[in-house]
Amino acid sequence: MTNKFRTLDDVDVKGKRVLLRVDLNVPMDNGRVSDATRLERVAPTITEISDKGGKVILLAHFGRPKGRDAKDSLKPVAEALSKVVKKPVAFADDCIGEPAAKAVAGLNDGDILCLENTRFHKEEEKNDPAFVAELAKLGDIWVNDAFSAAHRAHATTEGVGHKLPAYAGRTMQAELDALEKALGSPTKPVIAIIGGAKVSTKIDLLENLVSKVDALVIGGGMANTFLHAQGVGVGKSLAEKDLAPTALRIMEKAEAANCAIILPVDATVAYHFAANAPSHAYGLDAIPADGMILDVGPQSIARVHAAIDDAATLVWNGPLGAFEMQPFDRGTVAAAKHAAERTKAKKLISIAGGGDTVAALNQAHVAGDFTYVSTAGGAFLEWMEGKPLPGVEVLRVK
Ligand code: AMP
Repeated sequence: MTNKFRTLDDVDVKGKRVLLRVDLNVPMDNGRVSDATRLERVAPTITEISDKGGKVILLAHFGRPKGRDAKDSLKPVAEALSKVVKKPVAFADDCIGEPAAKAVAGLNDGDILCLENTRFHKEEEKNDPAFVAELAKLGDIWVNDAFSAAHRAHATTEGVGHKLPAYAGRTMQAELDALEKALGSPTKPVIAIIGGAKVSTKIDLLENLVSKVDALVIGGGMANTFLHAQGVGVGKSLAEKDLAPTALRIMEKAEAANCAIILPVDATVAYHFAANAPSHAYGLDAIPADGMILDVGPQSIARVHAAIDDAATLVWNGPLGAFEMQPFDRGTVAAAKHAAERTKAKKLISIAGGGDTVAALNQAHVAGDFTYVSTAGGAFLEWMEGKPLPGVEVLRVK
């Protein structure tokens, strides 16, 4: 299998009808787009195809409608998109059938058309062959720029890519390049920082990483499960005690693969799960029985910094503590700032992804200093788990 993907460099789009799958899932407030970040991300691909004389036909889902539902219409999103790309964006109120065919037939080279929410048809998520064929009739080529939906084999995220020549858009291309740098053929040594609430949601992730990285920092609530498995008393902390055997298995696998597991060596403990709850740092032999670990402690932060200093590549998912509540964001913010400094000093390639992780990096004001930050949640995680993503596989040069 090659690591090469067909991109917009491999096709002349002039005069072609380009079915462009994008992520338009922007937050709405009272029928208006309240954050245009996602639109800004897809704008370069739209603009490039339009400027080169391609007919841009946008395909996207929006929300989780059960059938046609006006509140999930893409119409206001298309209007907001028009402002971002500074060109008119026409709209068709269905993604197949007469409305779509007519709107597509009326396009001139360089025009942009947004088709209505693909999930208004249940066949989208079923990857239904007849629906795929209907969509494919509307285009000459298919360009996928929606990495965040690439873990789903739906009609517009994968199916159409088997019917038409398929290419990665620029946003997808940037994402694939970054992921390749992180775990495909990274500059070694590679460190992963994995945090978050639970081990149970990240078992596949941890198992895959231990065979790929040189060091794995485990933080957040999930570290408590590992500490408990090693006989550390974790008091009333969030911990999945029944997963102790899983934690031990992951540690054995890591040892066999020469991957150092870096667990907290101290902890910040409070007695209430609340912002500004009084807290204190304890060594692992002294966690109070009625206390809750809500963050890594100062010695652990120093240990994480040293581990980052030893690495050439960092891949990060999940906070090291309950970062939404101060002061339990300290470990996460300190590690984020340190990784950002090392990146700015050109000592580190840093790639982070996942909703909470992006929020934490924003909270630390360093998202812009990382080499790459993926806003894709599920797709980023599945990729880190080593799973093939259908919407990416279909772009691969065989
Ligand atoms: P996840 O969605 O698995 O990445 O988990 C993120 C959540 O884990 C965040 O909401 C954090 O507040 C939470 N979290 C991290 N560390 C802890 C901890 N020590 N105790 C409780 N929750 C935590």
